Parts: sequence; C-alpha cells; structure tokens
Amino acid sequence: MIRQAVLEYDHSHDALEDLHTVIGNREALILRGLNGYGEAVRVSPCLAEIPSVRFYGECSDEEINRLNAYRPDVWIAVGGGKLIDTAKRIAFTQSVPLIVVPTLVSNCAAFTPLSVIYTEEGSYTRYDTFPVVIERVIADERLLRESPYDYFKAGVIDTVAKWFESRYISGTTSRDAGIQSGLSLAAQCGELMDLSIHEQNFRHYGPDIRYLVDHVLAVGGAVGGFGDAGTRVAVAHAVHNALSRFDSTHQWLHGDKVGFGLIVQERLIRSDDTLLLEDWLQSIDAPTSLTQLGIRPDQVEELVTSIVEEITIQGIRNLEDSEQLKEILINLQEVVYK
Ligand SMILES: [Zn+2]
Repeated sequence: MIRQAVLEYDHSHDALEDLHTVIGNREALILRGLNGYGEAVRVSPCLAEIPSVRFYGECSDEEINRLNAYRPDVWIAVGGGKLIDTAKRIAFTQSVPLIVVPTLVSNCAAFTPLSVIYTEEGSYTRYDTFPVVIERVIADERLLRESPYDYFKAGVIDTVAKWFESRYISGTTSRDAGIQSGLSLAAQCGELMDLSIHEQNFRHYGPDIRYLVDHVLAVGGAVGGFGDAGTRVAVAHAVHNALSRFDSTHQWLHGDKVGFGLIVQERLIRSDDTLLLEDWLQSIDAPTSLTQLGIRPDQVEELVTSIVEEITIQGIRNLEDSEQLKEILINLQEVVYK
C-alpha cells in the first residue's frame, strides 16, 4: 500500500510565522518537550500564546492515555521523534489533524504514518501504522540551524541507511510501482554520502544542508510510505535493536548504531560498497568498531544471539549462518586503521 501522512511541508527561513494562519480560529494545543520548545519560543515568541501540555519523554501507552484527556481541535507537536510519534497516535485516536514543528533534524517521524511504542522504562514494544492527517510540517530554519549537530549527523546516517536497507530487501529495481518509487527516493538518500556534513557547514545552512535536512525530515519518510514492507528496515536496524540491549551503547544515538549495523549488513552480503561505507562513517566520526560502542569481546556471543533474534522477529530473510555473523563482529571489535 502507498501511504503518505503529510499534506504540506514548509521548510523556510521563518516557517513558524505562518502557524497562526494555519491554525485559524480552531482551538489548538501544543505538546511540548523539555528542550526544543524553549528554543522554538525564542525564535517565534507568539508560540507562547498557544496553550500547551508537557510531554514526559516516552511514547508509551500510558503517556498516550494520559494525554488523550485533552481534546483540542488541532494538536501541535513541538519536539523530537518520540514526542511527534506520541502526538500522531493521539491525533489519529481523536480523529483530529496535527501540525508538526520538528526541533531536531534527526528522524523522519514528521513524515511517517506510524508510531514506535515503548514501555515507560524506554524498551521497544511495537510500532503502530495508521492513517494520520498531518496538515503541515513546519521546518523553521532559524530553529533547526541551532539544533544539536550530533542529532543531525545521526539523522543523516539513518537516512543514508534507507538506501542500503531498501536495496537489501528489494534489490535495485522493482516492477511494483510503489516499491520502485521508494527505491528511487532511497537511492537519492544514498547519494547524501557525497555531501559534506561537518558542523561548520550545518551552522552555515547553505543549499547542501537544506537539501540534507529535506531528506532527513521528509524524503526519508516517503521511502517507506511508497515502498511499504519492500523498503523498510533490514539487518542494520536489527543490529541497532540488538545493540540497544547493552547499556554501554545508550550514549550513542539511534543513527550511530544503525551506521554500525550497516557495516555488518554489507559485510554479510559481501557488498562492493562496504569499504566506501566504512570510510564515510569514519570520516564523520561515527562508531565503526564494537570497542567504540563499549561492547567487550566476551559479549560478542550474546550480541550474535540478540541480532539473530531481532532478524527473526522482523522476518528478514537471507541471513546466512550465525558463525559468519560472529566472525564479522569479531573482526569489527577494534578500529581498523587503513
Ligand atoms: Zn532508523
């Protein structure tokens, strides 16, 4: 099925200034996070005039039930991925539209018709897919250019992953129009590796950075919207999920762990692009060894078991025997200097 969630996407210098016009005379309520909301008010002070309610940090069933007591005409999500996922679930449940103001350039939550649900303690539970009406995504340049660079970098890695994982699942072309559209957009995401993403450039916010931001926030989300199961996550995200079971990896962001997962995935299929990928990740100081991720040699066995479990849960095919996986991980224990 082809499924897109967003009616309008506005990425411009002062996109937030149109918010009151978009709301019109409806009763709006902002779901606000801890950090991003203050920054958003700083760049657009009239945001503070709109009533708001605090988000407690986890996209959990309990949090969704708590917030469900509020009944505005339109919800406005101002924050990061988990906050946006929570707002989407509530807006869908209440059959009201949603306006999204991302405060980080780290994920495509603003563009996908799904929510990743966690327990209150932060462990992954499931993801729910549903038709949600996102009236407008407001990507305000003044807000995004000041956002944390590490999140942007991790967001770019997670977006580049769309290409490698889609290709892993569906190959490079398909006669299914939805999957082919997803693959074309995913290929465009893969080409982001050619652009410089250093912090200085991010703060300068030139045309290349705008192009990257559009891919992280919007195009990356559209990949799965077109290709559905044919262009969603593969081995790299299974490796990410397995790594997340180890406390030592919690200091790394989602995209950093997905990047390491990509190396494992590409080595598993003996891809010609493995070296290119590893060089790119090293050049942007993303982790490329288990030592950097805080995984000790005596934990490799446990990691292999976890990855195999995750791959089985997600129904990903083509995994060869786990001995090969173990060998790859042992080889990735230390940084390889070339
Ligand atoms: Zn991801």
